[in-house]
Amino acid sequence: MDTRISGKTRLLGVLGTPIKHSGSPIMYNFCFDYYGIDCVYLAFDTDESQVKSTLDAMKRLNMRGANVTMPCKQEVARNMDKLSPAAKIIGAVNTIVNDNGVLTGHITDGMGVVLDLKDHGVSIVDKDIVLLGAGGAATAIMVQCALDGAKSVTVFNRGEEGVKKVKHINEKIKEDGIACNMECYLLAEQDIMHDKICSADILINATSVGMAPAQTEKSLINDTSVFHENLVVYDVIYNPLVTKLMKDALENGCKAENVIGGKGMLLWQGAGAFKLYTGLDMPAQELKEFLAKREKEDVEPLADIAENVTY
Ligand code: NDP
Repeated sequence: MDTRISGKTRLLGVLGTPIKHSGSPIMYNFCFDYYGIDCVYLAFDTDESQVKSTLDAMKRLNMRGANVTMPCKQEVARNMDKLSPAAKIIGAVNTIVNDNGVLTGHITDGMGVVLDLKDHGVSIVDKDIVLLGAGGAATAIMVQCALDGAKSVTVFNRGEEGVKKVKHINEKIKEDGIACNMECYLLAEQDIMHDKICSADILINATSVGMAPAQTEKSLINDTSVFHENLVVYDVIYNPLVTKLMKDALENGCKAENVIGGKGMLLWQGAGAFKLYTGLDMPAQELKEFLAKREKEDVEPLADIAENVTY
């Protein structure tokens, strides 16, 4: 890679904290190499208080763009020159594109889940979906599912603020005439959650519960009787590759092909961002093969996944 860096090479990156675990640099640099695009992509540890100065630096350094992860997505949205329609509804940004000093914020997270489910043979059209979480990723997913034809999205969140936020999003969705039944409850309402998951088609975890390094033994589903043969379980977390939620689903009646981790979401939301940066389709098949090979060579077996897994 260093042999191709020149005086014209443009910089992109991912902003957030913690960031060392991010798979994004590997993914985007592979795609730039694949097409011979003169760009390089790095990870920049950034907290919310550093967002404004980082955006100024993006302009100053003429960076082509950046992806954004937690905890910066809302703060970035508040500081964009322009927002895409979805980013405006959601109030969060995961992709910044710099066009001659004008920063536009987009959101491709929700698309990442819908496309990844599709890649696994699962359509969300007319489906009843239970979604855990009301943060940045969850909000993008609920909006995309509603836009793409889900019958219902029932959200459970730990805090009241998230519940209020979902109600506000639901109002905006209804104003736009989108026919998706959206409800939101507190996670503490366990009986309702039990019934909703038992009758759902798809359960999505979009919280950070289960994420390495500190939470690998945690899941928000304590009552494993909710898992059933027809339930698709999707976890947005990609480190570890198999979360506790996924293990519990596999051990309690869900089909192996219907238990899906978040590495595909990273790939498919990345495809949306790559197109915004370059105008090109991400080489998804080649990238998947590259990542699978890398996983085989570099990463410990799934059963032994530890905090140092890099993708
Ligand atoms: P946010 O901080 O915006 O939201 C976090 C969510 O998790 C909130 O709903 C929060 O609830 C909930 N939460 C956090 N801790 C707990 C807990 N102990 N118990 C219950 N709920 C909890 O983060 P993001 O939405 O940006 O990211 C969430 C996860 O999604 C992360 O693990 C991230 O890595 C992953 N992600 C994966 C992507 C992929 O490509 N696979 C893309 C983007 C994100 P509350 O409102 O009560 O605080």
